Amino acid sequence: MNHPNIDELLAKVPGSLTAIDAKSRFSHIWKTNEPLLCKGVCFPRTTQDVSSIMQWCHKHLQEVVVHGGLTNLVGGTQTKPDQLVVSLEKMNAIDPVDTQNRTIAAQAGAVLENVLYAAEQEQLFLPLSFGARGSAQVGGVISTNAGGLRVFRYGMTRNWVLGLEVVLPDGTIIENLKNLRKDNSGIDLKQLFIGAEGILGVVTKAVFRLVEQPLTRFSAMLSMDDYVKVLQCLRYFDQTLGARLTGFELLWNNTYQTMTAEDTHYQSPLQKVEMYVVFVELLGKHAHRDAQDLQDACAHGFEQDWIADACFFDTAAAQEECWKIREDVAALELHAPHNQHFDISIPIGDIGQIINDILSQLQHVEGVLGAYPFGHLADGNMHLIVGKENNGQQLTKQINEIVYQPLAAVKGSISAEHGIGIDKKPYLQLSRSQDEIKLMKGIKQLFDPKNILNPGRIVN
Ligand SMILES: Cc1cc2nc3c(=O)[nH]c(=O)nc-3n(C[C@H](O)[C@H](O)[C@H](O)COP(=O)(O)OP(=O)(O)OC[C@H]3O[C@@H](n4cnc5c(N)ncnc54)[C@H](O)[C@@H]3O)c2cc1C
Repeated sequence: MNHPNIDELLAKVPGSLTAIDAKSRFSHIWKTNEPLLCKGVCFPRTTQDVSSIMQWCHKHLQEVVVHGGLTNLVGGTQTKPDQLVVSLEKMNAIDPVDTQNRTIAAQAGAVLENVLYAAEQEQLFLPLSFGARGSAQVGGVISTNAGGLRVFRYGMTRNWVLGLEVVLPDGTIIENLKNLRKDNSGIDLKQLFIGAEGILGVVTKAVFRLVEQPLTRFSAMLSMDDYVKVLQCLRYFDQTLGARLTGFELLWNNTYQTMTAEDTHYQSPLQKVEMYVVFVELLGKHAHRDAQDLQDACAHGFEQDWIADACFFDTAAAQEECWKIREDVAALELHAPHNQHFDISIPIGDIGQIINDILSQLQHVEGVLGAYPFGHLADGNMHLIVGKENNGQQLTKQINEIVYQPLAAVKGSISAEHGIGIDKKPYLQLSRSQDEIKLMKGIKQLFDPKNILNPGRIVN
């Protein structure tokens, strides 16, 4: 086993931090009070820099953890004291939008929100949207195949990446920055890196396809007392609004009440809050018609007795306020100490029953302080934040088992969009067969035989 002198590498990459200086940094945006423990941090400025760093680490068996915007929810950016951090934050350039091909290329450290904004300046649209878009970076978004609020209509990150540049663990640069819509020339290798959580290579640049910018946006909040009515409403809204229906998000009553409690920044616009609160988004092109169609759909919901109360939002400011109640997960965190985050995928028809069963079981667990379900209903993806008295292993395990146990019977998944990282690795076999896990290990072994890049994530 080599004992690499990390100072040699840190000296080669200008601006690097030593282990001591790295303590001013952290491994997650929600853990800013926990100093980053590592051998040092490198900030490459070019793809060639990343390649040189990886060549050195490959030669000296130096483990590397890649840092993007540090917003993942699975422990993916945690480090050990003997690991090196490679942060892509200085590689944040965004190329001018290619308006003829309707594509945009950006380096891995570009913040997602800046990429969305650059596209918007050319009346083009990248429909990746989630609460952490102001911090998450292109490389992290691709490596986690992030989803979010509009997946129901537009799909996940995977659907939007046309080209990718990646540095392999041995420093080899794979440059495939094409902006082709179709390319069937063999195995689509870029897809292997999307959602691989950085275990196969370091993403350095990407090309995204874009679509025309919607011209109108309207939102509604609906209160409903029965999960079956929520499903009926979803189906009706989809039938009548068609492709303009871009979001259909669900909060359980206790989550909504907590988000709009006196100690938060938000007030409930609803008069009557039943068991479920649904957030609807419509993106369209014709202001008058779109507003009318969404209001008509809500009116039909009232007539059918699906909806108990509703609010309609047309101005940008009102919509922003409305969606913060759905998106500001940090406000929930305050009510859920020592929390565990879940991100499960369940067939849509089973969500109501399964989540309610989980909630009632959790109520009886000593040490559980509260459980807040919310999520992307139309995708069958529910999040659950569970607050508890301590981080003890036994309590953590008990909660995991209650949440994951019902998934097998409905062929659900332990992760709809956040990935596996370190936190969910012990439960991977609940979603994937032994043969699939063996195949994943084989792919990791092929790309990273020395197991130096993001070791311990997804599979060993
Ligand atoms: C408030 C909030 C809301 C969220 N909502 C959603 C949501 O709706 N949908 C959703 O899918 N996710 C959501 N997330 C999770 C998170 O935002 C996404 O997973 C995001 O894509 C992570 O991007 P990042 O740049 O922060 O990556 P990081 O957290 O820095 O890294 C994530 C993983 O990717 C690896 N990585 C980072 N950069 C690279 C690179 N250049 N090359 C290779 N590997 C790399 C890291 O090592 C790590 O394993 C949310 C998070 C928060 C805090």
